[in-house]
Amino acid sequence: MGGNGGLRLKFWGVRGSTPTPQIDNLSYGGNTACIEIRSPDDQVVILDAGSGLRKLGQTLLQESGNSRLSVHFLLTHFHWDHIQGIPFFSPLYRPETDATFYTGQALGPIEEKLQGQMSRPYFPIAFEVLAARRQFAELDDKPFKLADLVIHPFPLNHPQGAVGYRIEAGKKVIVHASDLEHGHPQLDRVLRQYAEGADVLVYDAQFTPEEYESHKGWGHSTWLEATRVAHEARVKTLILFHHDPWHNDQTVFDIVQQARLFFENTLGATEGWHVCL
Ligand SMILES: [Zn+2]
Ligand SMILES: [Zn+2]
Repeated sequence: MGGNGGLRLKFWGVRGSTPTPQIDNLSYGGNTACIEIRSPDDQVVILDAGSGLRKLGQTLLQESGNSRLSVHFLLTHFHWDHIQGIPFFSPLYRPETDATFYTGQALGPIEEKLQGQMSRPYFPIAFEVLAARRQFAELDDKPFKLADLVIHPFPLNHPQGAVGYRIEAGKKVIVHASDLEHGHPQLDRVLRQYAEGADVLVYDAQFTPEEYESHKGWGHSTWLEATRVAHEARVKTLILFHHDPWHNDQTVFDIVQQARLFFENTLGATEGWHVCL
C-alpha cells in the first residue's frame, strides 16, 4: 500500500476460525483474520495475525528492502485464527525488524502466550530465538498514542476475553470489533460508545441469526446485530468480517445483500481489498 497521506486499511485475511483454501470461498478469501492499517505518516499497524499475515510479511519485505522495518501488532486475543500467521511472518527472522506486540492487560502476559504457540512440540523454531527486535505492551483501557494515531482499546464479550480497538487519525476513525458475541448488556453499550461515528466499523458477523440460535456461547455475532450496532453508533460504513468457514462465496454474498436491507452501506470483507479514508 503506497503512502497517500491518509488513513488506509487492507484486508489480508477475513475468515474466522480456520483457513478455508477452497475454490468456492476464494472470492471473499480463505485466510484468517489479518488487517493492515497505514497511518497518514505510513506507520504499519497490523490488526491480528491470522494466516493472512504470511503474505503481508512478504509484501512488507519487498517494500522495505534491506532497510529497517517497524511493525505494531494490535492483537485482539490469542485464539488460533488470530495468531497462527506469526511463525510465518518473514520479517521476524531478520534483525532489521522492530516488532511491538500489544494486547489487553486481562489477556496477558503477551510474550508468554506468543512463545507458547511456537514451543515444542508445536513448531521447530522457538519464538525466543527470532532475530527481530521484539517489544511487548499490555494495555489497560486508556487511550494511547502510536505515532500519529490515537488508539482506544475496549473489552469485547468473547470466551477468554478479546479486545476491540478504536483507531483515530485526526477525524478519521476505524473501529475493529472481532471477536465478540452480542447480548452482554454492559459490553454491548461499551461497543456502541467506542464505535460512535466511525467511518468504518469492522464487525464479527460469523453467524446468520438462524445459525446463532444453536451457537450461543461460541463468542460470535450476526450480520443482523452488526446492522443494529452500525445504526445505533451512526457509523458510515459497516464491514462484515470473520466469515464462517462453512459459508461459501454465495452464502456470504447473500448475507451482505440481506444486511443492506437493514443498513445500506454494508460491505463483506474481502481479501486483497483496500480502503482509503
Ligand atoms: Zn476468531
Ligand atoms: Zn476468538
